[in-house]
Amino acid sequence: MTTGYVSQIFSTLQGEGPFVGERQIFIRLAGCPWRCRYCDTPESLSAEGKPLMSADDVLDAARRLNTERPHPTVSITGGEPLMQADFLATLLPGLRAMGLKVYLETSGTHPALLRRVADLCDVVAMDFKLPSAIGRSLWAEHEEFLTIAGPKAFVKVVLTADSTAEEFEQAVNLLASRDPAPTLVLQPVTPIAALDERLGNRAPNGHPKLTPPSPHHLLDWLEMSRQRLPDVRLIPQMHPLWGLP
Ligand code: SF4
Repeated sequence: MTTGYVSQIFSTLQGEGPFVGERQIFIRLAGCPWRCRYCDTPESLSAEGKPLMSADDVLDAARRLNTERPHPTVSITGGEPLMQADFLATLLPGLRAMGLKVYLETSGTHPALLRRVADLCDVVAMDFKLPSAIGRSLWAEHEEFLTIAGPKAFVKVVLTADSTAEEFEQAVNLLASRDPAPTLVLQPVTPIAALDERLGNRAPNGHPKLTPPSPHHLLDWLEMSRQRLPDVRLIPQMHPLWGLP
């Protein structure tokens, strides 16, 4: 497929994970099947009303940004960009031909779609979606996804005051079973109203904001995961502090 629904194309600093502070071109695709409570891109959940762009038009926009200022990396984000995997298969070779490393930001839940483009990605920044955040268990999908992504993957877990010790331990168990175990990034949620409140699906419940775990829980989980895994980082979202998108 040579066209895709695109929300935004812009240049900014990566605000999450091990690449924090790196300047990247962001290509934000529209559409996502999930509704994570902490989602901070609600405008990209649906493709409705978003421009349908050709791969050539997206490449032209990326080339313009890269001419104004050289970028090492292009972030392919969303929404869930893998929902348009055929479009990515057309687009990504052109981005790499510009000398850009491809950094895929994904929910880590659609292994069959990753398989179509895994060879075209340099870094796979995947989430583990905890059941408390998404309303169901996705461990089998995450495990298969990790297998396909291989050493390109690191895993981010967004933690809230509603995250439980049991689900966090399940995430660590899954990572500890991999050889080598991927880097794990613990990201305490940036305080934000739950998604369904922001989308107007329910009235405010008197606890309008998702909040991070208590320092006690966070430190406990950090220590526990560091005993089981070789590389665990605690990195909050930085771009809201910098006032960047
Ligand atoms: S997978 Fe990402 S884009 Fe989709 S709802 Fe969750 S946080 Fe938002």
